[in-house]
Amino acid sequence: MKTILIVEDEEPIREGLSDAFKQEGYKILPAKDGNFGYKAVLTKKPDLVILDLMLPGLSGLDVCKKLRSGSNQTPIIMLTAKSTEADKIVGLELGADDYVTKPFSVRELLSRVKALLRRSESRSEKKEGAKKLVFDDVKVDFLKFKAEKAGRKLEISKTEFKILRFFATRCEEVISREAFLDEVWGYDEFPTTRTVDNFIVKLRSKIEKTPKKPKHLITIYGVGYKFIT
Ligand code: CA
Repeated sequence: MKTILIVEDEEPIREGLSDAFKQEGYKILPAKDGNFGYKAVLTKKPDLVILDLMLPGLSGLDVCKKLRSGSNQTPIIMLTAKSTEADKIVGLELGADDYVTKPFSVRELLSRVKALLRRSESRSEKKEGAKKLVFDDVKVDFLKFKAEKAGRKLEISKTEFKILRFFATRCEEVISREAFLDEVWGYDEFPTTRTVDNFIVKLRSKIEKTPKKPKHLITIYGVGYKFIT
């Protein structure tokens, strides 16, 4: 069963949507404001978020921006009372996947939700497709948790595997330290961005020919890291 988080402060809309979506077989998580909604995305991991633009506390745009800058890719449909082009563009630029302008028909929103869930499923299949990483004389097999360099076994910890796998799914993209913390360590542990740096240094010493002059695990100053095969 797919779970949908509805972040909407107007109770009649929130309740109405909840009922309609439940009837269609979705599990619903309601949230009344932006802060609560933001936290619910991280802790409850819904399959999709319906996010109102005008909210008390964090606005819909703030929530969207915070999620995406932390590299959370949960599909988001924005509900907006404003129908100006500018608002739509800002919403999409901040990482919303789609938007619906109020007043909207529940049927239309339902069909948008279905379409977006389908798109995100094929996206996550692609993401899980990172089964191997091969570059230079290094081979990493994420399914078997095995790595070798020049035919010899490389000792790589579970966390290091997770870091490499995250890189493998986002080759050539700049990834922030915060994104690593979210993806690799999750929210139950409390490492600092410094921890990420230490792990990268350790990984470089294992996989780079000249760790002091890395060719694969590249530092992007002030932002994070990028992996190049
Ligand atoms: Ca509102």
